[in-house]
Amino acid sequence: MREQAEKVIIVRYCEIHLKGKNRGYFEQVFMNNLEKSLSGIRHEIRRPSGRYVIENFDSDRTEEICERVRKVFGVHTLSVGTKVDADLEAIWREIQNIAPESGSFKVETNRADKHFPLNSMQINAEIGGRLLSERPSLRVDVHDPDTILHIDIRENGSALVFEGIVKGAGGMPVGTAGKGMLLLSGGIDSPVAGYMIAKRGMKLECVHFHSYPYTNMQAREKVEELARILADYTGGLVLHVVSVTHIQEEIHKNCPAEMMITLLRRFMMRIAERLCADTGAQCIITGESLGQVASQTIEGMTSSNAVIKHVPVLRPLVGFDKTEIIERAREIGTFETSILPYEDCCTVFLPKHPLIRPKLEKIEVAEAALDVQGLLDEAFSSAEHIAIE
Ligand code: ATP
Ligand code: MG
Repeated sequence: MREQAEKVIIVRYCEIHLKGKNRGYFEQVFMNNLEKSLSGIRHEIRRPSGRYVIENFDSDRTEEICERVRKVFGVHTLSVGTKVDADLEAIWREIQNIAPESGSFKVETNRADKHFPLNSMQINAEIGGRLLSERPSLRVDVHDPDTILHIDIRENGSALVFEGIVKGAGGMPVGTAGKGMLLLSGGIDSPVAGYMIAKRGMKLECVHFHSYPYTNMQAREKVEELARILADYTGGLVLHVVSVTHIQEEIHKNCPAEMMITLLRRFMMRIAERLCADTGAQCIITGESLGQVASQTIEGMTSSNAVIKHVPVLRPLVGFDKTEIIERAREIGTFETSILPYEDCCTVFLPKHPLIRPKLEKIEVAEAALDVQGLLDEAFSSAEHIAIE
């Protein structure tokens, strides 16, 4: 008989089962993403029916593993448990370790090995009965117990015993829904927008625009930190950093002041679309929310969409209130970084009264004063491409 009980982590996935014929593909991507999230940590992942079990790791790293796995999209829930021999006495010893002293409980057994001498109901009754007689302050409640003690009798002669279920990130495995180019500022909104789209299975690349030396290096470091937080969910990403300093200077010199933001947005969109073509990204993603600020009106969006020819622009936050976005930013861990003070390039040369409802024809006339292609080429040649693991 095995002497030591071994720690395991049970991972349940979501939604993947909905995908009919593609199921095998989705599960393969999910498995790869799980493996990638645990790179550098000794472990093995097994796949008994309908879930994934992480085994053979150093128990000191249990929390770290849970923390990483919880962020993998596609993970519905996870539980930390113990693997013991599929033997009633071994199971009972482990149940005594994890059962509470008081309150209500139930035992829930799942028996994949139909040769086990007791059936599920009998195991529930036997283990539950022993607990009740040893711990007088416990009582059984099968409908709404404080604690559920799970026993999984597996087919390979082992059993998993666990209590407690932690919620995972949900969503679809990253890589099953193509790739998008996120316009990542240092603000609160764009990281949340990227998270939401990645959660639907889309791989991300990010582009950040800066106006160095008008904006400082801290702004840049902050964006890299935001990209790193996102990368924990997406299994790495590439951050493209592009200077729009000269573009802003030229707009400032040659165009009406109140058009600065609208014109700059159009340059950002063009650069993003070109990056899409270079990297195979299939859409542009922004953190805009309708009416949130003067430039995020439907007219503003019309004006920036007008320069994009080949890809859709996804704006997952378009119908969200700021308070809802902040709530999500806190949940995903970007908020504290996003609120660090910094200068966005949009705040440089910021007009007192930006155009709220830019008219596309007027914008196009003003833009004709600029060497659009030359400025784009120049910005593009300054681009840096940073791989974030
Ligand atoms: P955020 O909180 O994401 O910065 P915001 O409320 O500050 O958004 P805007 O400054 O109007 O809104 O920007 C709208 C969107 O344009 C951002 O969500 C982002 O997707 C994109 N964007 C703005 N500035 C930059 C930048 N410097 N680099 C990359 N994308 C940017
Ligand atoms: Mg911003």
